[in-house]
Amino acid sequence: MSVDRINDILPQTQCTLCGYSGCKPYAKAIIDDNESIDKCLPGGLQTAQSIAALTSQQLPDHLDEFKKPNTKVRIDPNECIGCTKCIQACPVNAIVGGPRLMHDIISDLCTGCDLCIPHCPVDCMDVVSSNASLPDPDYLKLQHNLKLNTDEKQRNRRSSRIQVTKDRTSQQTMSLIELAIQKAKERKGHTIEES
Ligand code: SF4
Ligand code: SF4
Ligand code: SF4
Repeated sequence: MSVDRINDILPQTQCTLCGYSGCKPYAKAIIDDNESIDKCLPGGLQTAQSIAALTSQQLPDHLDEFKKPNTKVRIDPNECIGCTKCIQACPVNAIVGGPRLMHDIISDLCTGCDLCIPHCPVDCMDVVSSNASLPDPDYLKLQHNLKLNTDEKQRNRRSSRIQVTKDRTSQQTMSLIELAIQKAKERKGHTIEES
Protein backbone atom coordinates (compact mmCIF):
# COMPACT_ATOMS: atom_id res chain seq x y z
CA MET A 1 0.00 0.00 0.00
CA SER A 2 1.43 3.38 -0.97
CA VAL A 3 1.31 6.65 0.92
CA ASP A 4 -0.09 8.33 -2.19
CA ARG A 5 -3.13 6.06 -2.32
CA ILE A 6 -3.98 6.84 1.30
CA ASN A 7 -3.28 10.52 0.69
CA ASP A 8 -5.71 10.52 -2.25
CA ILE A 9 -8.50 9.40 0.06
CA LEU A 10 -7.88 12.14 2.63
CA PRO A 11 -9.83 15.41 2.21
CA GLN A 12 -6.69 17.50 1.57
CA THR A 13 -7.82 20.43 3.69
CA GLN A 14 -4.37 20.47 5.35
CA CYS A 15 -6.17 21.47 8.54
CA THR A 16 -3.74 19.65 10.91
CA LEU A 17 -6.64 18.40 13.08
CA CYS A 18 -5.16 14.89 12.82
CA GLY A 19 -2.10 16.10 14.70
CA TYR A 20 0.11 16.05 11.61
CA SER A 21 1.26 19.00 9.51
CA GLY A 22 -0.97 17.95 6.60
CA CYS A 23 -2.71 15.06 4.88
CA LYS A 24 0.39 13.50 3.35
CA PRO A 25 2.38 13.32 6.62
CA TYR A 26 -0.65 11.64 8.20
CA ALA A 27 -0.90 9.19 5.28
CA LYS A 28 2.82 8.45 5.71
CA ALA A 29 2.35 7.82 9.43
CA ILE A 30 -0.47 5.36 8.70
CA ILE A 31 1.81 3.40 6.36
CA ASP A 32 5.15 3.72 8.16
CA ASP A 33 4.11 3.83 11.82
CA ASN A 34 0.78 2.04 11.78
CA GLU A 35 -0.89 5.25 12.98
CA SER A 36 -4.58 4.90 13.80
CA ILE A 37 -6.93 5.52 10.86
CA ASP A 38 -9.45 7.51 12.90
CA LYS A 39 -7.54 10.77 13.21
CA CYS A 40 -8.97 12.69 10.25
CA LEU A 41 -11.96 14.51 11.71
CA PRO A 42 -13.02 16.33 8.51
CA GLY A 43 -12.85 13.02 6.66
CA GLY A 44 -15.04 11.32 9.25
CA LEU A 45 -16.24 7.75 9.16
CA GLN A 46 -16.47 7.63 5.36
CA THR A 47 -12.74 8.36 4.98
CA ALA A 48 -11.74 5.96 7.73
CA GLN A 49 -13.78 3.19 6.09
CA SER A 50 -12.05 3.81 2.76
CA ILE A 51 -8.62 3.66 4.41
CA ALA A 52 -9.58 0.52 6.33
CA ALA A 53 -10.50 -1.13 3.03
CA LEU A 54 -6.97 -0.48 1.75
CA THR A 55 -4.99 -1.32 4.86
CA SER A 56 -4.98 -4.15 7.33
CA GLN A 57 -6.29 -1.83 10.03
CA GLN A 58 -9.72 -2.49 11.48
CA LEU A 59 -12.18 0.28 12.18
CA PRO A 60 -12.13 1.00 15.93
CA ASP A 61 -15.23 -0.01 17.89
CA HIS A 62 -15.52 3.39 19.53
CA LEU A 63 -17.02 5.24 16.60
CA ASP A 64 -17.37 8.35 18.78
CA GLU A 65 -13.81 9.04 17.67
CA PHE A 66 -15.26 10.14 14.36
CA LYS A 67 -17.42 12.88 15.84
CA LYS A 68 -16.91 16.08 13.94
CA PRO A 69 -15.19 18.91 15.76
CA ASN A 70 -17.86 20.98 17.42
CA THR A 71 -16.13 24.31 17.11
CA LYS A 72 -16.20 27.06 14.52
CA VAL A 73 -14.57 30.45 14.32
CA ARG A 74 -16.43 33.73 14.63
CA ILE A 75 -15.23 37.20 13.67
CA ASP A 76 -16.09 40.26 15.74
CA PRO A 77 -17.50 42.68 13.12
CA ASN A 78 -16.64 45.71 15.25
CA GLU A 79 -12.98 44.83 15.47
CA CYS A 80 -12.15 43.41 12.03
CA ILE A 81 -9.94 45.80 10.03
CA GLY A 82 -10.27 43.90 6.73
CA CYS A 83 -6.60 42.98 6.43
CA THR A 84 -7.44 39.67 4.57
CA LYS A 85 -4.74 37.74 6.44
CA CYS A 86 -7.28 35.20 7.71
CA ILE A 87 -8.56 34.53 4.18
CA GLN A 88 -5.06 33.70 3.06
CA ALA A 89 -4.62 31.27 5.97
CA CYS A 90 -7.91 29.36 5.59
CA PRO A 91 -7.35 26.12 3.64
CA VAL A 92 -10.99 25.67 2.60
CA ASN A 93 -12.27 29.13 1.56
CA ALA A 94 -14.42 29.41 4.68
CA ILE A 95 -13.85 33.16 5.05
CA VAL A 96 -15.33 35.90 2.88
CA GLY A 97 -14.32 39.56 2.72
CA GLY A 98 -12.04 41.95 0.91
CA PRO A 99 -9.40 44.57 1.63
CA ARG A 100 -10.64 47.06 4.26
CA LEU A 101 -14.02 45.28 4.43
CA MET A 102 -15.44 43.38 7.36
CA HIS A 103 -14.84 39.63 6.99
CA ASP A 104 -17.20 36.82 7.88
CA ILE A 105 -17.03 33.04 8.33
CA ILE A 106 -19.04 30.63 6.17
CA SER A 107 -19.93 28.53 9.13
CA ASP A 108 -20.98 25.48 7.10
CA LEU A 109 -17.49 25.25 5.62
CA CYS A 110 -15.42 25.99 8.72
CA THR A 111 -13.69 22.85 10.01
CA GLY A 112 -12.69 24.48 13.30
CA CYS A 113 -9.03 23.96 12.49
CA ASP A 114 -8.11 27.37 14.02
CA LEU A 115 -5.36 27.92 11.44
CA CYS A 116 -6.67 31.45 10.76
CA ILE A 117 -6.62 32.66 14.35
CA PRO A 118 -2.88 33.30 14.85
CA HIS A 119 -2.84 35.41 11.65
CA CYS A 120 -5.33 38.02 12.90
CA PRO A 121 -3.38 41.13 13.90
CA VAL A 122 -6.19 42.56 16.04
CA ASP A 123 -7.25 39.38 17.79
CA CYS A 124 -10.88 39.65 16.69
CA MET A 125 -11.45 35.93 15.99
CA ASP A 126 -13.00 33.62 18.56
CA VAL A 127 -13.63 29.91 18.73
CA VAL A 128 -17.29 29.14 19.36
CA SER A 129 -18.98 25.82 19.96
CA SER A 130 -21.31 24.53 17.25
CA ASN A 131 -23.63 21.63 16.63
CA ALA A 132 -23.32 21.95 12.87
CA SER A 133 -21.74 19.02 11.07
CA LEU A 134 -18.97 19.40 8.52
CA PRO A 135 -19.55 19.25 4.78
CA ASP A 136 -18.77 16.19 2.75
CA PRO A 137 -14.99 15.47 2.61
CA ASP A 138 -15.09 15.64 -1.21
CA TYR A 139 -16.59 19.12 -1.00
CA LEU A 140 -13.81 20.20 1.39
CA LYS A 141 -11.24 18.77 -1.03
CA LEU A 142 -12.85 20.75 -3.87
CA GLN A 143 -12.73 23.96 -1.83
CA HIS A 144 -9.07 23.37 -0.98
CA ASN A 145 -8.22 22.83 -4.65
CA LEU A 146 -10.10 26.01 -5.61
CA LYS A 147 -8.12 27.84 -2.96
CA LEU A 148 -4.82 26.50 -4.35
CA ASN A 149 -5.81 27.61 -7.88
CA THR A 150 -6.74 31.10 -6.68
CA ASP A 151 -3.45 31.40 -4.76
CA GLU A 152 -1.49 30.34 -7.84
CA LYS A 153 -3.31 32.85 -10.08
CA GLN A 154 -2.61 35.62 -7.57
CA ARG A 155 1.09 34.62 -7.41
CA ASN A 156 1.28 34.68 -11.23
CA ARG A 157 -0.42 38.09 -11.39
CA ARG A 158 1.98 39.44 -8.75
CA SER A 159 5.05 38.11 -10.56
CA SER A 160 3.80 39.57 -13.91
CA ARG A 161 3.34 42.95 -12.23
CA ILE A 162 6.87 42.75 -10.78
CA GLN A 163 8.27 41.86 -14.22
CA VAL A 164 6.46 44.80 -15.89
CA THR A 165 7.83 47.15 -13.20
CA LYS A 166 11.34 45.72 -13.68
CA ASP A 167 11.09 46.17 -17.47
CA ARG A 168 9.88 49.77 -17.09
CA THR A 169 12.63 50.55 -14.59
CA SER A 170 15.21 48.99 -16.87
CA GLN A 171 13.89 51.01 -19.87
CA GLN A 172 13.94 54.20 -17.82
CA THR A 173 17.49 53.47 -16.63
CA MET A 174 18.59 52.84 -20.23
CA SER A 175 16.97 56.09 -21.36
CA LEU A 176 18.76 58.00 -18.61
CA ILE A 177 22.10 56.40 -19.56
CA GLU A 178 21.53 57.19 -23.25
CA LEU A 179 20.63 60.76 -22.34
CA ALA A 180 23.75 61.11 -20.19
CA ILE A 181 25.93 59.76 -23.05
CA GLN A 182 24.26 62.14 -25.49
CA LYS A 183 24.89 65.10 -23.19
CA ALA A 184 28.49 64.03 -22.64
CA LYS A 185 28.98 63.86 -26.41
CA GLU A 186 27.43 67.32 -26.85
CA ARG A 187 29.66 68.78 -24.12
CA LYS A 188 32.72 67.23 -25.77
CA GLY A 189 31.66 68.74 -29.11
CA HIS A 190 31.35 72.21 -27.55
CA THR A 191 34.75 71.90 -25.89
CA ILE A 192 36.42 70.99 -29.27
CA GLU A 193 34.67 73.89 -31.03
CA GLU A 194 35.70 76.38 -28.29
CA SER A 195 39.33 75.25 -28.45
S1 SF4 B 1 -7.86 16.82 6.29
FE1 SF4 B 1 -7.61 15.08 7.68
S2 SF4 B 1 -5.62 14.18 7.15
FE2 SF4 B 1 -5.72 16.22 6.18
S3 SF4 B 1 -4.70 17.52 7.68
FE3 SF4 B 1 -6.90 17.61 8.14
S4 SF4 B 1 -7.22 16.00 9.68
FE4 SF4 B 1 -5.21 15.66 8.75
S1 SF4 C 1 -12.25 29.75 9.07
FE1 SF4 C 1 -10.41 29.35 10.31
S2 SF4 C 1 -11.01 27.64 11.64
FE2 SF4 C 1 -12.50 27.73 9.96
S3 SF4 C 1 -11.67 26.34 8.39
FE3 SF4 C 1 -10.90 28.37 7.88
S4 SF4 C 1 -8.89 28.47 8.91
FE4 SF4 C 1 -10.00 26.74 9.81
S1 SF4 D 1 -7.29 38.63 10.09
FE1 SF4 D 1 -8.66 39.54 11.59
S2 SF4 D 1 -8.68 41.73 11.11
FE2 SF4 D 1 -7.80 40.69 9.35
S3 SF4 D 1 -9.57 40.39 7.99
FE3 SF4 D 1 -9.35 38.52 9.22
S4 SF4 D 1 -10.69 38.83 10.99
FE4 SF4 D 1 -10.41 40.82 10.02
